Amino acid sequence: MANSSTALSPGDRIGIVGGGQLGRMLAMAAARLGFQVIVLDPQEDAPAFQCASDRIVAEYNDLAALEKLANKVSVLTYEFENVPVDALLQIKQRTAIFPNLGALEKSQDRLLEKSFFQEIGIKTASFLPVKRSDQIGTLHDRLGSHSILKTRRLGYDGKGQIRLSGSSPEMLSDAIDLATRNECILEQVVDFACEISVIACRDERGKIISYDPARNVHSEGILRTSTLPAGIDSEVAEAAGTHTAHILEALEYVGVIGVEWFVLPNGEVMANEFAPRVHNSGHWTEAACVVSQFEQHIRAISGLPLLKPVRHSDCEMHNIIGEEYNDLSELMEMPNALVHLYGKSEARPGRKMGHYTVLRSKS
Ligand code: AMP
Repeated sequence: MANSSTALSPGDRIGIVGGGQLGRMLAMAAARLGFQVIVLDPQEDAPAFQCASDRIVAEYNDLAALEKLANKVSVLTYEFENVPVDALLQIKQRTAIFPNLGALEKSQDRLLEKSFFQEIGIKTASFLPVKRSDQIGTLHDRLGSHSILKTRRLGYDGKGQIRLSGSSPEMLSDAIDLATRNECILEQVVDFACEISVIACRDERGKIISYDPARNVHSEGILRTSTLPAGIDSEVAEAAGTHTAHILEALEYVGVIGVEWFVLPNGEVMANEFAPRVHNSGHWTEAACVVSQFEQHIRAISGLPLLKPVRHSDCEMHNIIGEEYNDLSELMEMPNALVHLYGKSEARPGRKMGHYTVLRSKS
């Protein structure tokens, strides 16, 4: 078991729950540090299996499979936030699990997450829990004329969200339908100047490192690009970094976190959400820094020292989504682009198939 006095050694085994692209990149980073990786995922063709030393094909709530995994590894981590907390609680005695399950639980529920931000003094968009779907019209009026209905759980890449503007009954009907089927919150639309994210990491001794904030552009809820530098004032960057460190401390967190921030026109930052894992908006770190977010996470959970997150280049990370994957010929000829493909067989619409990071000299 990894703890502050004993770091893992090369050859030790790390378990990763979830075998998507994030698990795959974590497995690659772990392999570079000499660890063996066992990945658990329900899909036979999970991308991370291609880069792991062993695999377990099983559902995330399959207790016998999780126990088998826990018994084989020195430390366990996960690559996505919808792993059932109850299932991981059952195997907590068998192996160390990072990030801790309290952080995981908060990240799974937008109401818990936003309430946590406010409890520790971090600003968020105004939000209200939707207790009954027929309240939506009233709650929407209380928040002003622009709001977003979000499911409390299982929303990602803009899924499970409906924007409301104005007050026509037709507009409300889809929202009422969503809120009838799911527990939701209603959130005020923030008129932000830009969106940034901070990728940071904390180890068991409490040391925190934080990468430069990236400026993120989303389209239809999916991240398209992350750009460094973010083109924000240094005070804004510093505030986002300080608040992110505060979140890590309050959660007594170990590992990498990705925190998304809205930057307001007056320079204030508001937390949108945090991901208790490596984050898409941190993929640029593999190209523009000596030590990537993936390696920092593996270092943190295995008791190795965290390294200074020095950025040696400016850069822009682009996701390769859906049919963009079908013709990579131009991309493969691009100078200064580090291409990273995820080994997925089918380029379905909206599916993240890979990314590339274009490097430039540091300004
Ligand atoms: P989320 O799933 O909460 O990260 O939302 C996906 C994207 O929707 C964000 O990255 C923003 O671009 C946008 N969005 C979410 N919440 C708000 C909000 N309260 N105000 C304005 N835009 C938002």
